[in-house]
Amino acid sequence: MSSSSSLPPTAIRGAGAARPRGARLLDAPLGWSAVSRALLLQGFLLPFLMLSFFESTWFMLRPELAPYFSISDLATYNAFIGAVTLYGTVLFAVGLYMRSHQPGSTLYQLLVAVFACAWPIGAGYYFGLHISGMIAAFLAASVLAVVLLDRWVALVGVLCGVTGAVVLSALEQARLVRHAPLLQSAPFGAQGLEGSWFWGVGASVFMACLLVIVLVDQLVRKERAYARLLRSLAVTDALTGAANRRHFIDSLERELQRAKRFSFPVGLVLLDIDRFKRVNDTLGHGVGDEVLVRVVELLSAQLRESDLLARYGGEEFVLLLSHLGPEGAQDAAERLRAILSDNPLCVGERELRVTASFGVASLEVGEDLDVGALLRRADAAMYRAKRAGRDRVVAWSEDDEDTSG
Ligand code: GH3
Ligand code: MG
Ligand code: MG
Repeated sequence: MSSSSSLPPTAIRGAGAARPRGARLLDAPLGWSAVSRALLLQGFLLPFLMLSFFESTWFMLRPELAPYFSISDLATYNAFIGAVTLYGTVLFAVGLYMRSHQPGSTLYQLLVAVFACAWPIGAGYYFGLHISGMIAAFLAASVLAVVLLDRWVALVGVLCGVTGAVVLSALEQARLVRHAPLLQSAPFGAQGLEGSWFWGVGASVFMACLLVIVLVDQLVRKERAYARLLRSLAVTDALTGAANRRHFIDSLERELQRAKRFSFPVGLVLLDIDRFKRVNDTLGHGVGDEVLVRVVELLSAQLRESDLLARYGGEEFVLLLSHLGPEGAQDAAERLRAILSDNPLCVGERELRVTASFGVASLEVGEDLDVGALLRRADAAMYRAKRAGRDRVVAWSEDDEDTSG
């Protein structure tokens, strides 16, 4: 039962092994659920918000420490940053709850993205939008959103931030809103923005921010596509597109653990194409390959979402049928056998009738079989089907015990 023959190409293993430990740690959050990734972003923000709130509260209590602030506006800013911190904390708490109840929630991601990218613009009203702290907060939130969150969600967050910045700047320039009211001496004049400052320097700063965001987005997209490709190569059989043996064994192991814990049966079907060597010998290896592909297509079309079909090796396939006991698994196998036997496969110009022998084993509720034992039982039953004349389904029985070990 060695799985070494089914390990993915060495290039994949090599890629995994070559990655330094730190890089793997950094990669980990990208595999988390949508809500967990949003929680991480929210977790980055919260300490920063809390610090700002405590700092502004401290300045209100000790105004002599804050000679640069307008005391009358400090109270409003303190209330603003207090409300933002409270909202951020509630959002974090909601995320902790959703992580276990609705881990894939896009709505939660969206709330976090908009919050992360928009709050610096709110604070920018008090301090002046174009001071480096506000730009850094906006840029950091946007980049983290692009890295951690789903792409379009991050984009909505960034757009909200940019729209807020543009609207605020326009209002300031039109003198409808005071520029940086919190500061005794506003960076660009207490009366408001001078001339076309925003549309000149301000806009170019935002363009630079957007450029960074777009570049990060490109890098993240490439990295994610590469990770997806690696994941799919690592679990897929290259010829047929079915799952590979290693992935099947991992999945079966997990399913057996769940089945024992939650008391449900698991069916396992092992099938081996009959007289396949003849196909190769008479029609060539290429036709043989195509037959394997057609068999997988035919069988896959009959399966449910929760079933897993894998190429176990050569012309042998295995099928995991969750929640099916001995009778259910045998019925399913019989249905597949009949479909394969009754439907000639179209291989190039030819139609070929292909049959297979099926062995069925199952883990019944209360049983304690491991992956190896279950596979051995299915194997023993399949060999009995061969000996009995092929093109048939045989379920494991106690009589097979001697052969299955
Ligand atoms: P049986 O009914 O007893 O299973 O007979 P069989 O001919 O199917 O069994 P045998 O084990 O003698 O032959 C299996 C053949 O499957 C031999 C091997 O060349 C062929 N085979 C294994 N993997 C592949 C593959 O990827 N492509 C092709 N074309 N043939 C393969
Ligand atoms: Mg075989
Ligand atoms: Mg065979």
